[in-house]
Amino acid sequence: MDLIVCVKHVPDVSSAELRVDSSGREIDRAGLNYDINEWDDYALEAALILKEKHGGVVTVVSVGGEEVDRTLRRCLAKGADNAVRISDPKINTKDPFIVAKVLSAAIKTMRYDLILTGVQAGDDGYAITGPTLAEYLKIPHATLVKKIEVEDGRAVVWRELEGGVEEIVELDLPALVTVQTGIAELRYVSVLGIRMAMRRQIRTMQLSDLGLSPEEVASPWLAIEELYTPRVERRVEFIEGSPDEAASRIVEILRARGLI
Ligand code: AMP
Repeated sequence: MDLIVCVKHVPDVSSAELRVDSSGREIDRAGLNYDINEWDDYALEAALILKEKHGGVVTVVSVGGEEVDRTLRRCLAKGADNAVRISDPKINTKDPFIVAKVLSAAIKTMRYDLILTGVQAGDDGYAITGPTLAEYLKIPHATLVKKIEVEDGRAVVWRELEGGVEEIVELDLPALVTVQTGIAELRYVSVLGIRMAMRRQIRTMQLSDLGLSPEEVASPWLAIEELYTPRVERRVEFIEGSPDEAASRIVEILRARGLI
């Protein structure tokens, strides 16, 4: 089975205190720690499990600068067979539609049965790249996947819906799934694995290898107008007096607001 996992190198925004930078459209990334996107770690885990069961090759692909090699090497250390970095300063990596277009151009040159992405990236949270990539490749896709079984050229996947409801979907391969966190227990990266991964080669691809022109990857479909931290507004009134007085005051407040 040929498995491709799309991985994004993201800042850890879950524990850090975030600030908006001077452009008003970006978070200030100075001092943030970067690592593999959490959802992509689970997508890789799911791919490695499928490889262990059915045999095959796992290729991890990332669009970004040289810094994404850290995440790609981590994936190699965990058991991925190949790593590909798509790098070109002309690629507008902030636009998920462009990233999907670039990924599709690269993946078209590869063999694949199943493509796995995360449900969403922890930094921008668009949840767009996976389904758009599937559309570019004209293959079926399923989102929010929490279990995958593959048999006879088909994938059966369990989708996690709201309110504890699950849906089972069958997809003809090749297909794409966006993987939910918790699909399996994540394996540890061994020190030996990391050392060996440092010596592995990461294949790089540029626009010229993808048959895309700079114009096709430059203008964003999506423009961020503003990024801001919402102002927290809290008004507290402490009601004093006896229970009867407090009850009267509560009724007064509710009436004044038209709530009763
Ligand atoms: P998003 O649509 O930005 O929320 O990202 C959803 C998923 O698309 C991620 O979990 C990754 O699997 C994939 N993805 C997004 N950006 C990139 C990137 N620069 N390189 C590789 N994969 C990406």
